[in-house]
Amino acid sequence: MQTFFNTVNGQPVASPSTFESKNPATGETLGLVPHSTRDQVVAALAAARAAQPAWAARPDSERKSLLLEVARVIKDQAGYLAEWVTREQGKPLGGVGPDQVPGAHFELWGCEVWTQVPASLDLPVEVAFEDDARRDEVHRKPYGVIAAIAPWNWPLLIAIWQIVPALRAGNTAVIKPSEYTSIGTLELVRLIAGVLPPGVLNTVSGGGEVGAWLVDTPEVDKILFTGSGATGARIAATAAKHLTPATMELGGNDAAIVLPDADPKAIAMGLFWGAFINMGQTCACAKRLYVPDSLHDAIVSELAQLAAAMPMGDGLQPGVAMGPMQNRMQFDKVSRLVERARADGATIVCGGEPPGGPGHFYPLTLVTGIADGAALVDEEQFGPVLPVIRYRDVEDAIANANRLDVGLGASVWSSDIEKAKAVAQRLAAGTVWINQHGMVHPMVPFGGAKGSGWGVEFGVEGLKSMTRPQVISVKKN
Ligand code: NAD
Repeated sequence: MQTFFNTVNGQPVASPSTFESKNPATGETLGLVPHSTRDQVVAALAAARAAQPAWAARPDSERKSLLLEVARVIKDQAGYLAEWVTREQGKPLGGVGPDQVPGAHFELWGCEVWTQVPASLDLPVEVAFEDDARRDEVHRKPYGVIAAIAPWNWPLLIAIWQIVPALRAGNTAVIKPSEYTSIGTLELVRLIAGVLPPGVLNTVSGGGEVGAWLVDTPEVDKILFTGSGATGARIAATAAKHLTPATMELGGNDAAIVLPDADPKAIAMGLFWGAFINMGQTCACAKRLYVPDSLHDAIVSELAQLAAAMPMGDGLQPGVAMGPMQNRMQFDKVSRLVERARADGATIVCGGEPPGGPGHFYPLTLVTGIADGAALVDEEQFGPVLPVIRYRDVEDAIANANRLDVGLGASVWSSDIEKAKAVAQRLAAGTVWINQHGMVHPMVPFGGAKGSGWGVEFGVEGLKSMTRPQVISVKKN
């Protein structure tokens, strides 16, 4: 059994104990992951601290070209890393392009693009004010050392979303992957750290306790966290002790609202992937679908046909469109929500009966005859189950979409863009997509409203969030 290593100060680091990483499609053990000790977390932060001044002092053009080199390494190693994503996370290998299943190759392509884009962005000095008496410039300074904590659903892509803009802005970083999907990230960092100065990018690995050690220290200048709201709240409480700023990308329960003038056939594919990409285990998936009475049956039938056409299995096998769920905890949550809906009288249009066997396979499931207030509607299912809620009056759909204490994304589907925009403006969500859902872009800021998080990632706004402003104010004669 292969044991994997953390990377600290450019060197492989083993730990006194390890834990197993398992394939969610087969249950097989894939490898052993070091369980970082508290001293090793301190050492990783010290390496990042030592490397930071020289990294920040490099000309911007050098950091840019080193990160473009990182993008090249990701591209060269995409096949190897995509296989790790599939083995460990479960999503099928899939492909890249409009007709391809968005799986592990798509994730690696995203890693490459989300490295190239921040590498190519600049944060020029802004003049906030100028008159005859004074000139006030806003310069952008790195925070220093960044602690990043990532989830298991898009393990490599989310790691890249955290790491690359942080480094681009002159910070150094220590990242902890999810304990469910560590190997892919440890391998990614091992490979890309090879083109970076030692200490600029480091890893630690383990469960929540290692994450807690990583953030409970004045040695961290900014925290980047992507994961559940419950963990986010715990990290925020720790951050408060040290007054450490944090970007929080937390859970959501995105509503998709179909307007009566939408064409069910035209929107079905977009709705399907909006809800079921990565088996619904995506922060900004459509998790509640509101449809008008007039279109209900047509939309449910289109979605059920698409669900039936998607082969599910071990994502390393050719032709597989849907993999297993990533872990038993998530599988159990989805099972519980569906069983409760069934017991309360909802209709399970398709799915709802897991096949059993060694993997965490749960069929694509559509649930109708369900309303707001049901647990499957109100709780984030984070799995391959979509509740379809009928509405008569769009005002009710809007009010229900805004009912919950989260607001990551939302979408509106219509043949009339202006009508859709008018609804979009009334939805309490960080992003509202029109005739698409979850289509994040490296140039476009992404972040949550309400309990879905603090701050944004991506684009110029995301890069700015990796810096603190410093004003240089000059008195003129
Ligand atoms: P999680 O909160 O259980 O774990 C996330 C990470 O936090 C893991 O690395 C874990 O080890 C670590 N952790 C756990 N307890 C900790 C603690 N006390 N201190 C520090 N670190 C700790 O989340 P998950 O189950 O991995 O991910 C699923 C959740 O993440 C869903 O709610 C989903 O919506 C959300 N998510 C949000 C986004 C986004 O961008 N908004 C993206 C992906 C996932």
